[in-house]
Amino acid sequence: MAQDQRHSGRSTILAAIRKAGRIARVDLARQTDISPPTVTALTAELIAEGLVEETATDRPSAGRGRPRVDLAVRGAARRVAGLKLTNQAISMVILDFAGEELAEFSVPLEQAQASIADMVAEIARAVRAGADEAGCGVEGLAGLGLGISGIVDATRGFVYWSPSLQERNAPLGELLSQALSLPVFVDNDANLVAMAEKYFGLGRGVSDFIVATIENGVGMGIVLGDELYRGTRGCGAEFGHIKVELDGALCRCGQRGCLEAYVADYALLREAAVATDLSGSGDARSLDALFEAAKNGDAIAQSIFRRAGRIFAMGLANLVNIFDPQLIILSGERMQYDYLYADEVIESIRESIVQIDLPPPDIQIHKWGDQMWAKGAAAFAIEGVAKIALENLANNAA
Ligand SMILES: [Zn+2]
Repeated sequence: MAQDQRHSGRSTILAAIRKAGRIARVDLARQTDISPPTVTALTAELIAEGLVEETATDRPSAGRGRPRVDLAVRGAARRVAGLKLTNQAISMVILDFAGEELAEFSVPLEQAQASIADMVAEIARAVRAGADEAGCGVEGLAGLGLGISGIVDATRGFVYWSPSLQERNAPLGELLSQALSLPVFVDNDANLVAMAEKYFGLGRGVSDFIVATIENGVGMGIVLGDELYRGTRGCGAEFGHIKVELDGALCRCGQRGCLEAYVADYALLREAAVATDLSGSGDARSLDALFEAAKNGDAIAQSIFRRAGRIFAMGLANLVNIFDPQLIILSGERMQYDYLYADEVIESIRESIVQIDLPPPDIQIHKWGDQMWAKGAAAFAIEGVAKIALENLANNAA
């Protein structure tokens, strides 16, 4: 078999073992469409390299003879860190190669927006402190994953724009990699939420799903055929900026009619200010107060949230009509604003999708915090270091 075929075979097999958790060789052959003798040969190489290990199966063995064994990813093979940068903090987790969490912590961020040089120094300091606290030191890490909001080219860790950085066009991955002497993998944080759902959350074992994140803005991650879909310039999946109205409301991005301009915090407050001015009551209220008012039956507040929910539903229905995913996950920390996933919103999504005699995609709500974003970043680092390990293996075999 040609070397590049062996390389892609090893990569397919390692991904399948990771997805399954533990799996017998015979099932691996069936799932990957690789012949059983080749599976045996390639898994032997992965075992020799220390990336995969045999583990006793909990299924009964068929009759006498050799007890059946499963294969699993070997946790001790590598250790990676994952970081999520927010306005206030750097959250960090350390995972082993199998995705088991070894440590987690959070340090306050000195300033929400900094120069690239200051941000690199601050992140490097946090990673060193975290790795020391976990007892492995930076030398004990095989890679670092970082999630940042903004427009990122994940193939080279290049940040075109981020609200966390003063400069545009920052080679953040490269600079961090130099500062820490580690491979560094940077991606947009919404993509890393999708990664976290794929490895640890509701997306486990689901090949095609969409995650919509609701934070300050509206983000999205798309997983198609088990792979995160990033577009060609790193600026795809900008769900917040799909257009929902011709010549509509002004968005933060400078354009008109974006989804975000109807459902983000600032949009709701802007509308409340206009509506309450019309009714003569004056000041804009905070979102929490507006939400409270809606709960207490305030008709204006209710109509603002209902409209936001309907527009959000229209956006999600458009996504279903394009991608036809198995599952949609509505995910984020701020899911307390339940108007975005009220029964009537879900119903309105179902009414606006193409109707066939099959059930619509499943829609699930997943509320979680910064550590889960950091775990997504660590999962991205695991993918990256696995790729490096497999490339080394291929080069040594050639
Ligand atoms: Zn916009």
